[in-house]
Amino acid sequence: MSDLPVVVIGAGPQGLAAAAHLVERGLEPLVLERGASAGAAVAEWGHVRLFSAWPELVDPASQRLLEATGWAVPTGGYPTGAEWVDGYLAPLASALGDGVGDGTPIRVRYRVEVTGISRHNRDKTVDDGRSEQAFTVHTVDATGREGRVLARAVIDAGGTWSQPNPAGGDGLPAVGETAAADRISYRIPDDVSSFAGRHVAVIGSGHSAAHAVLRLTDLARREPGTRVTWMLRRSAPHADGGAADALPQRAALGVRTRRAREKGLVDVVGGFRVAEFRVETDGVTVVSDDGRAISVGQVFALTGFRPDTGILRELRIDLDPALEAVAGIAREIDPNIHSCGTVAATGARELAQPEPGFFIVGAKSYGRAPTFLALTGYEQVRSVVAHLAGDHAAAARTELVLPETGVCGGSGSFDGGTDGGTDAGCCATPLLQIGSATAPGGVPVPGPPADERMTI
Ligand SMILES: Cc1cc2nc3c(=O)[nH]c(=O)nc-3n(C[C@H](O)[C@H](O)[C@H](O)COP(=O)(O)OP(=O)(O)OC[C@H]3O[C@@H](n4cnc5c(N)ncnc54)[C@H](O)[C@@H]3O)c2cc1C
Repeated sequence: MSDLPVVVIGAGPQGLAAAAHLVERGLEPLVLERGASAGAAVAEWGHVRLFSAWPELVDPASQRLLEATGWAVPTGGYPTGAEWVDGYLAPLASALGDGVGDGTPIRVRYRVEVTGISRHNRDKTVDDGRSEQAFTVHTVDATGREGRVLARAVIDAGGTWSQPNPAGGDGLPAVGETAAADRISYRIPDDVSSFAGRHVAVIGSGHSAAHAVLRLTDLARREPGTRVTWMLRRSAPHADGGAADALPQRAALGVRTRRAREKGLVDVVGGFRVAEFRVETDGVTVVSDDGRAISVGQVFALTGFRPDTGILRELRIDLDPALEAVAGIAREIDPNIHSCGTVAATGARELAQPEPGFFIVGAKSYGRAPTFLALTGYEQVRSVVAHLAGDHAAAARTELVLPETGVCGGSGSFDGGTDGGTDAGCCATPLLQIGSATAPGGVPVPGPPADERMTI
């Protein structure tokens, strides 16, 4: 088995970081990515500016690999998703060997989707000799050709981007949501000019939704007749902490959305749990559980993500029943039970599955929890790869202390209603924010102007 590669699912920030650690440890990675290039998911939100500065977005082993090619950590504060791809992820994939640069052998393959993982010649029910068997990874390429790869271990860094939550207030698609698909987008909009003069709804109370609201209210300011309605299950948006909010980026976002409300650029409709979509000739009517109906031309449903666990069906895995996160880290990230404070870094021990040699890392390891940070993932993959290399002391070590993120009071709190809800938890909304950035050497990185800071 030792001559087989470690298969890594996904060439996102975490899959590529895992590959860099594997190479550094002398283990051969094979990264399988369904997109056409490195960071395919990040590229889809390339227009969004990250709230983390460059030093917080670069994995140490990847940095070492890249620096050997003459690359230097980009300076210039807070990149957009597209800049993260161009300035770091694409060069990293090239240095690993993706057939685009000079690197050989090919360790990163694009347009290859993993469709299932199992133990070689053992279905899920078979105990006999199970852990001595290689993994078998089933794939399909862009031409529809199916294949199978044997692996000594598998690291699933597939993220959650491909599975946005539906708009329905009970977690299932609302009645009519599927039929209204061409009037609902689940992505943060970039160019919104086609909505000039129209009525647009944004559903969701987090930072992706706030981002969309700000893009659309900018349009409403320029194009009279444009209307924006912000539909919230809660009584107020997460991002509305304003001056009382201890986190500057979140406060800035709250200030901007509140200003838009005060100027009448957006109507906020609280306690609105979506029950039904009714397709109309020129748009869609959104109906709440309590019978309110609002007709709009287009809907942006930005209500978070959930992991694709379908490809894991033949593996013995342990996921938290509520969060669909790796069970061993769920308590640490669960917004239902977490008290305010630092989220501990998690490694191979917490991420271990009943199936030895299989790990879920990165955004996917967090399941539906909204608080994942790139730095957390880089520490995960460092520890997991150390474990796979047999360096159990390094695997057990924690090499990252995360600053406070505020993970409580999030989606796990009942969203309340027009009567006030339960937003006033100890630290309110989860925020993917790690405080002020510090460059290597301890030099603080200045943030972007407040009105450019955009969290998700
Ligand atoms: C809008 C936005 C802004 C964010 N801003 C920040 C920030 O400022 N700071 C921060 O620390 N974090 C931020 N995050 C969170 C997090 O760091 C990112 O989501 C990051 O991209 C997660 O990396 P990942 O590698 O785990 O997953 P992804 O980036 O989603 O990568 C997964 C990859 O796997 C591929 N894939 C999935 N399934 C398969 C399959 N079956 N077969 C083959 N390939 C597959 C996908 O195509 C994708 O390329 C942000 C997230 C979003 C959505």
